[in-house]
Amino acid sequence: MTVFLPPPDFLDSPRGRRFAAPPQQYRTDALPDEAAVVIVGGGLAAISVAGTLWHAGVRDFVIVDRAGRLGGQFLRRADILGQRVLRSPYDHHPGVEGYRDCELLDFARLQWSLLTDGERLQVRMAQAGHRSVVPMDVLEAYCDHVVAMHGLAARAWQGEVQQVSPNEDEVLVRTSLGDVRAATVVLCTGEEATPAPDDWWPGDATPTGVGYWCDPAEPAGGETVVVGAGLSGAHLVTNALAAGDRVHWIIREESERYQCADVNASFFRAEGRSRFHGTSWQDRLLMMRQHRRASVMFEFRPRLTAAEEQGRLTVHRGTTVTAVHGRADGGPSVELADGTTVTGERVLLALGTRPLIGSELLPTDVVRARDGWPDLEEVTLAYRSAPRVHALGAAACMALGPAARNIDGHRIGTSRIVPSILRQLDTPARLTEVAHV
Ligand SMILES: Cc1cc2nc3c(=O)[nH]c(=O)nc-3n(C[C@H](O)[C@H](O)[C@H](O)COP(=O)(O)OP(=O)(O)OC[C@H]3O[C@@H](n4cnc5c(N)ncnc54)[C@H](O)[C@@H]3O)c2cc1C
Repeated sequence: MTVFLPPPDFLDSPRGRRFAAPPQQYRTDALPDEAAVVIVGGGLAAISVAGTLWHAGVRDFVIVDRAGRLGGQFLRRADILGQRVLRSPYDHHPGVEGYRDCELLDFARLQWSLLTDGERLQVRMAQAGHRSVVPMDVLEAYCDHVVAMHGLAARAWQGEVQQVSPNEDEVLVRTSLGDVRAATVVLCTGEEATPAPDDWWPGDATPTGVGYWCDPAEPAGGETVVVGAGLSGAHLVTNALAAGDRVHWIIREESERYQCADVNASFFRAEGRSRFHGTSWQDRLLMMRQHRRASVMFEFRPRLTAAEEQGRLTVHRGTTVTAVHGRADGGPSVELADGTTVTGERVLLALGTRPLIGSELLPTDVVRARDGWPDLEEVTLAYRSAPRVHALGAAACMALGPAARNIDGHRIGTSRIVPSILRQLDTPARLTEVAHV
């Protein structure tokens, strides 16, 4: 069998370069009382949907994000992990599809003089239709470019959305900046870290020395224990090794899974989505489990293998955590199902993410959660019992397929949501301009 082994330095793109993209300027004044569309959350999904609304002639939209910077949560999380490149290729981007906008690959080519030789090679690979690795720096500047080109920052406010109350004619959106009445709403609230199971430790307080992948953490200077077999776990392991720590890596699976993407590529294409649509709820749950499994980019393999051979990394394969204890006389300890106890100065949990499905904002009888997923209409991604409220991003996985939480999935979702919004705003003339996938 041929093993695909790209060099690990593809992961080491520089961060903090000054690319040719205008800085974002946000609104700090009062929110308007009314808007055609309110977009809750200002992440990569919001950038996709707002840019498409702009092209469809809808400029009366309001974006409310607690972080205050469009795309900011994603970039902040990636920086906490030290993730310097995207997992998804150049053709997955948060720009607008079908309007001859500058796309991510075009944008990277414009920054040629600032790219490293390895990054230029990746651009060439993408141009030739091969798998490519995109620097986080380039994505960040591209987001700023899309935001500036579509005037999105002028419609973005920093605030917390507290409640979304739909009725037949409009939706009342309650925020920390005041209330807005909207004809239609799109929830783009993203995902949160999956918490540890209740029985890992008593009480609600996380034991001292235990943290999640999305919390900033200083190097421990000793031994680090990482739980979780996905890309975030691999970043935490690599960072701790680079800081000189000895690392225990606990993974449930019998072996690490190395693959390019975290989702089977067919789900970004029509045939994959139709395979998903044609099945029962139970089969979809099964597909979500089968096609969204923890895995790590190929580039990590040489470094992790070398660290294990040198004895700096111990991988505990095929076992699960049964308990985590804080210790008064040192760092926390982790008990495993195979009877082993592992101790370290700190324990880092990378147990995956779970979608925010609207439960914290909408009435329960609108979300109608089933197995942790909201009840969405498949063609429009609107809540079945509140057609003026749509969900984009991870929350739409059971309607759109496993790719919904990925950058390219946001564009597929956008192409369903925007026609629905235009119908609700009664602007049919523009409908034909938006591709319906
Ligand atoms: C470390 C990491 C790496 C990833 N790498 C890739 C990759 O390479 N390629 C890929 O396709 N996908 C990747 N993903 C998946 C990725 O998260 C999504 O593609 C993308 O960030 C999701 O965009 P989003 O807008 O749905 O969520 P986010 O970008 O997380 O944005 C959600 C926003 O909603 C805001 N928000 C939520 N609730 C409220 C509220 N009540 N009021 C106000 N604001 C609110 C948050 O502040 C946040 O800014 C990665 C995920 C992680 C965690």
